[in-house]
Amino acid sequence: MAQGDFKKYRIATIGSHTALQILKGAKDEGFETIVVCQKDQRKPYESYRVADEIIEIEKFKDFFEIEQQLIERNAIIIPHGSFVSYLGPQRVQQLKAMHYGTKAILEWESDRTKEREWLLNSDLRLPKIFKNPDDIDRPVIVKFHGAKGGLGYFIANSPNEFKQRIDEYPEEKDYAIQEYIVGVPMYAHYFYSRLTGELEIMSFDKRYESNADSIGRIAAKDQIDVGIKTSYTITGNIPVVIRESLLPQLFAMGERVVEESRKITDGGLFGPFCLEMIIDKDLQFWVFEISARIVAGTNLYIKGSPYTDLRYDVPMSTGRRIARDIKEAADGGKIEEVLG
Ligand code: AMP
Repeated sequence: MAQGDFKKYRIATIGSHTALQILKGAKDEGFETIVVCQKDQRKPYESYRVADEIIEIEKFKDFFEIEQQLIERNAIIIPHGSFVSYLGPQRVQQLKAMHYGTKAILEWESDRTKEREWLLNSDLRLPKIFKNPDDIDRPVIVKFHGAKGGLGYFIANSPNEFKQRIDEYPEEKDYAIQEYIVGVPMYAHYFYSRLTGELEIMSFDKRYESNADSIGRIAAKDQIDVGIKTSYTITGNIPVVIRESLLPQLFAMGERVVEESRKITDGGLFGPFCLEMIIDKDLQFWVFEISARIVAGTNLYIKGSPYTDLRYDVPMSTGRRIARDIKEAADGGKIEEVLG
């Protein structure tokens, strides 16, 4: 254990989601990098010069065919949204290569009931869930499980409206009926390091969703005449800074989530995570989801955010923060602290 020991590790991830940022951050910290990408998607990883090595596979589901190559290269895999969604939380558990982050927490994140239990026990405010559509007595948002990026979500105001709309999706059996909160969406990007024992707020974003974010461009009458239905398909992300007086609450919320995660898994949550919420007019935070890994909204801050600017003297993206965590662990002889 000595400075520079980190160089015996490589940083690897799959080419999608936040890979550019993760690899760039790793290179900035001095690591060699590997990207595993689908044949037809190698261009960005070549063009942006962030990968020292590109391993091609036909489809992401073939990932396990090249896992041995990663093991031989002493690579640490950084999971991100696409990694978890392509492999599935069960297959992530079977990884033999080194993995940054607690794998067990992904099961809590991907199971709606467990996720809710975790967040409620963290003393967060959550939108009500309607188990029975007949109980709908306020606006609700209906979310299909496994829907990619908000595709197909719809709003209903009554049991009748729900029944009419759900008939348009005869295939869909797995959905949640959630109270619709009127307010602004806010995505808080956190980072918790087990080495420092400290929770950091890295940045915030809001999503750019079609057609929820375009509907206000036409008059209400036209929306009704044309029969436009709101949907929440994500197309991109927009940077946000939050009212400074709200920061103390946000730190406390993140800390409670980390604390609670230690009760439900060995070692608990560490690394990047995101609380996804709506803030209403009374400045109440309604958390509707947690992502227990890096989120795509952090791609806005490859050169750091207004918040990381305050704390670091180099541009600190979330991707780079991960690499720094690994580097500090390796150089301090504590690599197990960042693997799970
Ligand atoms: P999700 O797939 O859960 O991240 O939700 C997609 C989008 O739907 C969010 O970015 C919000 O704009 C909106 N949304 C989700 N849940 C709620 C809620 N309970 N109330 C209001 N809007 C919501």
